[in-house]
Amino acid sequence: MTQKIYSQGSAPIIWISGLSGAGKTTIGRELIALLEESNFSPYLLDGDVLRGGLNNNLGFSLEDRNENLRRAAEVAKILSLAGVTPVCCFITPTNDARSLVNNLMVDFPFVDVFLSTPLSVCESRDVKGLYAKARAGIIKEFTGISSPFETPESPTLEISTDGVSVNYCASKIMDKLKEIFPDSF
Ligand code: ADP
Repeated sequence: MTQKIYSQGSAPIIWISGLSGAGKTTIGRELIALLEESNFSPYLLDGDVLRGGLNNNLGFSLEDRNENLRRAAEVAKILSLAGVTPVCCFITPTNDARSLVNNLMVDFPFVDVFLSTPLSVCESRDVKGLYAKARAGIIKEFTGISSPFETPESPTLEISTDGVSVNYCASKIMDKLKEIFPDSF
């Protein structure tokens, strides 16, 4: 297949933030499928996966979380320059962390999606049993419970996943991409 040529010289970078259990990975995977249908070459850059390798020397202090995101953002930029569309799934808990990522992305086609799924919904889903462990004090510095999560002030797109389908949420992101980067479609 012919590689897509992007008007800005690099492929779009999609950054999905939100609490654990908000739906980042689930929507990220669905978005990958939709992007492939539109002939993009997407790649899921998942916080949990990066923490298993590249970032396995980092913990969950605010300083380490920022370093985790800085490295992730730099990897995303390399992928973008190579014509790959990174779908980045990271909690991105603070305004400080968001500024850090945004500043690294100034010369890139960047879309910042905030999944505003309420904490109560994320906790009731408790996909990996992490909220129960955080409430029991077994996991320290858990975002939303014992570590801060600040609501983003001006994301490109905000979606609450409560009561709507995964496909609906991923399609909303596709619609936004078509609106911002019409030449890429
Ligand atoms: P995160 O990556 O943000 O930690 P996950 O994607 O691992 O979250 O888990 C989200 C959970 O919520 C999954 O079990 C998923 O099936 C469920 N869910 C229900 N509705 C939605 C939706 N509209 N979008 C995304 N996930 C949803």
